[in-house]
Amino acid sequence: METKLCPKTPKCPIFNGILKGTQYTDTYKRLYCEAGEKGRNECKRYLVALKVGICPPNILPNSSKSEDDIIAEMKQRGELN
Ligand code: SF4
Repeated sequence: METKLCPKTPKCPIFNGILKGTQYTDTYKRLYCEAGEKGRNECKRYLVALKVGICPPNILPNSSKSEDDIIAEMKQRGELN
């Protein structure tokens, strides 16, 4: 049976970091984190982490930036090898 919960939840800032407890946190959880594969496949945090293994803590699931832009910025800041 498919688990509805995103496997990233233990380390994701939505649950355990700077995005925890904001006025939008519950909405993010419902739309992305607890919405099965379809939900997390629309989450920018999840998609960036799939490609490069990590995602900056301040990126929102519905970030207007593209995955490639987020990754390019991480490279510019020296956060990726
Ligand atoms: S915000 Fe994205 S990466 Fe984090 S737990 Fe939710 S779906 Fe997973």
